[in-house]
Order: sequence, then structure tokens, then C-alpha cells
Amino acid sequence: MYDFFKKTKIVVTLGPASETYEQIKELALNGANVFRLNTSHGNIESHSQKIDIVNRVSKDLGLFLATIVDLQGPKIRVGNLFKEIELKNGDELIFSPSKEQIAQNIIPVDYEGMPDDVEVGEKVLLDDGKIQVKVLKIEGKKIFASVTNGGILKSRKGINIPGAQNSLETVSERDKEFIKFAIEKNADYIALSFVRNSKDVEIAQRYIKDFGGNIPIISKIEKPQAMDNIVEIINVSDAIMVARGDLGIELSPVEVPICQKIIIEEANKQRKPVIVATQMLESMIEQPIPTRAESSDVANAIIDGADAVMLSGETSVGKFAALAVKTMEEIAHNTEISSFCPYNIHMGISDKYNLTRQAVVNSTLKMAEDIHAKAIVSFSHTGYSSRLMAKQRPDIPIIIISDMESTCRRLNLYWNTYTYCRPWDILPGPKLLEMLDEFLIDEIKLQDDDYVVFSGSMPMLISGRTNFVRVHRIGAIKEEHYVY
Ligand code: PGA
Ligand code: MN
Repeated sequence: MYDFFKKTKIVVTLGPASETYEQIKELALNGANVFRLNTSHGNIESHSQKIDIVNRVSKDLGLFLATIVDLQGPKIRVGNLFKEIELKNGDELIFSPSKEQIAQNIIPVDYEGMPDDVEVGEKVLLDDGKIQVKVLKIEGKKIFASVTNGGILKSRKGINIPGAQNSLETVSERDKEFIKFAIEKNADYIALSFVRNSKDVEIAQRYIKDFGGNIPIISKIEKPQAMDNIVEIINVSDAIMVARGDLGIELSPVEVPICQKIIIEEANKQRKPVIVATQMLESMIEQPIPTRAESSDVANAIIDGADAVMLSGETSVGKFAALAVKTMEEIAHNTEISSFCPYNIHMGISDKYNLTRQAVVNSTLKMAEDIHAKAIVSFSHTGYSSRLMAKQRPDIPIIIISDMESTCRRLNLYWNTYTYCRPWDILPGPKLLEMLDEFLIDEIKLQDDDYVVFSGSMPMLISGRTNFVRVHRIGAIKEEHYVY
């Protein structure tokens, strides 16, 4: 089912424009690898249905589509207003914690601690930064502010306080329910919004463990404090998202491109997968073709070294959801066949990873390049070695054969990986070579005399730790003089 057409992975966000079996299947056929459930919207029931559909589509297409449960995190919102309020530059207003508006001149906010978190002179942003105010004074629970950038304020709009080291819990009560849900539904990743430091990630990891789960965390980098603590955050995370939407609000859109490069570079250095997200093909929400700036943006994210690129509104509410995925896939393909796309990033040995496995991985990649192998085959239980391989961005596809479906799905976030679930945890010998040949010819469409390089573990092929690498010529096992 895999065509080795594109190496960059595509994450799509599901929503009203992509919730039926047919719609989700079309996204997958057009190149979507990972499906994101944005828990800022919808409820457990609606997300549960979406995961079930993704799993059905996966099965029907023979793919290992991965799912991300994206937690809303410490998002502050305006409470319910009597009616929308027009704010003009220079207007003065008061914020006060409460769910409902109690007086015409007071704007309710749903965060008790806000008066303690903001400081005089600080900038507060409303409705994705469209409206800006500056704090004048704080009296008790009341925050007095003046409008510096006016607009129309409606109920439930988001509030960003970029400077605040706010005391809001990283994982809200609502988030905890969604962590339990993610564990119950066997989701592949949990994304953590508004991460500020490594402690935030560890708190979420603790909840996942306490609720009986073992799900890797994608830290979303979207706060100025996260940029300051980027090294420690990546160190404790399993994957990273450049969450340019809120990053552009909390910092400024003009700082986003360089932040993106800094985050990708550090994630690659620490060998963690990295997703570039938000507004990649934004105009395709309404139009069937992207702007030139957008198609360039997707290409540049890949050239920067991203493993995956993400669609948000384009697929969740857009008019051209399937076409947006197809367009992204085509941009990726055109970028990957150019000389600008980074390939074969050889990495030295790091003391953070297992020495033997790194050595085998590096030898596998070198061998595959030297003999112009058509594919690398990585037998893997948890995917540890396959991950280290993928992070070196080989131009040769990495076929991962695992006995674990969750490994197959999770590895689908990485660059140039193609996963297959096979119960081949056997003693490597002639039988394996026969099975491998059949697989490579029937499913990967390779031919007799093509070379592959494979790595795995001995004595048991999959369940042990990767400790061997081997050259293999397809068909050699059938020949009388079995030579390489
Ligand atoms: P969101 O995260 O879509 O969940 O807000 C991505 C971003 O902020 O860019
Ligand atoms: Mn965000």
C-alpha cells in the first residue's frame, strides 16, 4: 500500500470537515500519516468516534495511521459576555475572574489566578492576538487595562499572557480526562500545549503513568519561556511541535521563522522527531490553491529538517481538506527530489543513547549507502533503533518490521519510514531470508538482485536489542552457490 513517493510525514487535524469514514479515508489516500484530535474542541464522545474511524481506515488500507490526542493545556478564556463588546484604542476596561459577566464594564476571565500572574505594563492578548491591551493597575481581583489594539470581543475567546510564568496547572482537569481517554483508546501520542519547562512535561508524564498508560509526549513549543528552556524541554520530550499559531501570538509573527529553525535544529541534535505546524496552507481553507508563500513555507520547513508538516484548519474546517493534503504531499515530493533537501545527516555517537544500537544503526546506514541498497530493513520491537536511523534522514527508505502495532503507528511520524507489522520474532536463518525475499518482492516491489541491508537482533530477531547488520541480495538464497 505504501508508495515511496514522499518521505516527509503529514499530520492532519480532524474536525467537522473530516469526520466521516469516507473523508478520513480520502485524507489517508492523499498522504496523511498522522491524525490529530484537537481537544480544545469537541468532547470525549466525538473524539472517540474519530479514533475508531481512523483505526478502521488503517485496517482497511493496511496502513499504520497514528493518532495524537492534543491537550488544550492552560488556555485562559474570556467568560460569557452579555453581548459582544467593541473595544477601541485607548478604551479602559477591567478584567476579573468569573465565568459570567456581572457588570457591563467588567470582562470575565475563566482563570482565578490571573490578577496574581500579570504585572503592570504587561501586554495581554485577546482572540489570537487580534486585540491587545496593556495592564494599568491591579486592585484586588480586578485588572485595569487600556486597549492598544482594538477590535470586537466575543465570549469564550482565548487570552494569551506571554510574559506570565503563570501558576495555571499544565494539565487541567479537562486534560486529565483526555489523558485517560487517550490511554483507553490506545492513542499513539499525547500533545502538550503551552509547555514552559521540563517540569511541565514531567508532570504530564506522571499523570499518564498514574493513569496506567505509556504514551509518548509531543511538547508544543508556543511560549517565550519554552524558547528559553528549549534544550531541557526537548531532552525530556518524545517529540516536538513548532506550534507557530500561539508562538506567533505570544512572541510575534516576525520571530517565528528563526524560532522554527532553532527548535528544529535542537530537536534534530537530540534525535527527536519534529513537526512544523499551523497556517502552512492556510488560504486553502477557502481556496483550492495555496499562495506561493505557503507552498514555499512547506518546502522550507522540510529543508529546515522537519520530520513532519501539519495541517490544522485546512483539514478540520476547510473547504478543500483532501486537496490540501494532496497539495502538501506534492510540495513535499518536489522538495525531496531537489538538491536542497537535507539527506544522510551522519551523526556521531551520543552518550544519551545505547552505544551498541547506535553503532549498528550507523553501520547500517553506511553500508546501505555504500552498496546502493534499495531499502533498509529494520527489525524492531520498540522502534528504538529505527528511530535513531530515521533521524539521520537516509535517502534510502527504512522499512520497519515490528511485532507491535503501536510501534508501527508511532514510527509513522518519522521521516522516510514505512512500517509493517509481522510476527517474525524468530531465529534469523535461511527461513527468514526466504520470507524476507517474498515480502520485499510482493509488498515492497523490489526485484531479484536488488540489495537491501537489514538489522535486527540475535538470537531472537525482533524482541532483543539490535546487535547485527547484514547485506542481503534478493534471490541469492535460491541459488545453488549462495553468494553475495
Ligand atoms: P493549536 O496548536 O492549534 O492547538 O493551538 C498549534 C499552534 O498553536 O500553532
Ligand atoms: Mn497552540
